[in-house]
Amino acid sequence: MGLQEIQTRIAKATRAAGRAEGAVRLIAVSKVQPPERVLAVLDQGQRLFGENYVQEAAGKWPDWRAEFPGVAVHMIGPLQTNKAKQAVELFEAIHTLDRPSLAVKLASLAQARGASPDLFVQVNTGSEPQKAGVLPEALDAFVAEARRLDLPVVGLMCIPPEAEDPAPHFAMLAGMAARNGLTGLSMGMSSDFEAAIAAGATHVRVGSAIFGARDYGARA
Ligand SMILES: *Cc1c(COP(=O)(O)O)cnc(C)c1O
Repeated sequence: MGLQEIQTRIAKATRAAGRAEGAVRLIAVSKVQPPERVLAVLDQGQRLFGENYVQEAAGKWPDWRAEFPGVAVHMIGPLQTNKAKQAVELFEAIHTLDRPSLAVKLASLAQARGASPDLFVQVNTGSEPQKAGVLPEALDAFVAEARRLDLPVVGLMCIPPEAEDPAPHFAMLAGMAARNGLTGLSMGMSSDFEAAIAAGATHVRVGSAIFGARDYGARA
């Protein structure tokens, strides 16, 4: 598919939803992709990227940041507390704040640095036992606690259950954000970003539809 086609589809879905041009930001998810594919997309002007692994991001983004001014990288994968320090130095935003211990750790890092990446709280909208994220019924209290810790929570993020229609999950996330006074909605991937835009997504996370399929076997 490629970057241009995805940009076109995002613009079209944004218009169809009656939303303002530019209301949706595209996060190009570059995890596990070979460098030449990421470079091609950088050369086409894309500047916002998503990564899932701290180690992998640390290995490739410092050089590309120097080469391509304006690059921003968002952490969209599960974040271990012992990698939090490295993460706050590497990423402009973290979409996976999902538990109190991580909130406490990020707050202490923010205190020490006098700065913090923007934070999205990940919500387990399907209440799936194996999935990360705050449960819907615990979300309001969690957001309140994060705010009490002075954390810059800007929105919510979800990954709907694989075998279900994602639309009700996107609607649920939008409702929870509105109720908590949050404007950021990180939702929608290659297979469902148009439905997410219809439901109010402000950040869509699209990987394989831009770069092609990921080959986990080829990882160094
Ligand atoms: C990998 C990943 C994506 C991108 O998935 P695609 O299906 O390749 O678009 C989006 N969000 C998260 C949290 C991911 O881990």
